[in-house]
Amino acid sequence: MTDNLTCPACKATDLDVCKYDSMMVLRKDTALFSLRCPHCGASVSSVHAIPAQLREEIRFAAIEVGAGMGAGE
Ligand SMILES: [Zn+2]
Repeated sequence: MTDNLTCPACKATDLDVCKYDSMMVLRKDTALFSLRCPHCGASVSSVHAIPAQLREEIRFAAIEVGAGMGAGE
C-alpha cells in the first residue's frame, strides 16, 4: 500500500501524504490531504486513506479541532 499522491500538474508520483500542508478528516480512516508538489509547486488536494503512522497524530488533532477550529501552528 502506498501513501503517495500523484501531482496532476507534473505527474510526479512521490508526493508523501505524511508531508501534508493540511488535512481534513472525512471519516476515521479517510481524509482530504492538501500538499504542495516539491517538484513544480502545484497545490495538490486528494482524498486518501489515512496512513497508520498518522492516525495517532490525527487523534490529537481531532481533540484540538474539537477545542477550537483553526488552532495550531
Ligand atoms: Zn508537480
